Amino acid sequence: MTQATTVLDPVCGMPVDPWTGEVVEFEGEMYYFCEPVCAEIFRDEPLRWIEPAPQQV
Ligand SMILES: [Zn+2]
Repeated sequence: MTQATTVLDPVCGMPVDPWTGEVVEFEGEMYYFCEPVCAEIFRDEPLRWIEPAPQQV
């Protein structure tokens, strides 16, 4: 038995099953959301929700 991989909804922070969640593609990356309203919020202002890659500590 393998546990399904989950990803985090960047808007609300909930774990999302990529097979059942809402998907939004932005700049070649796929983002997953627990419900359509979260995807709408993300689409409205994607950069607000994407964590920039850590540069240096
Ligand atoms: Zn959500």
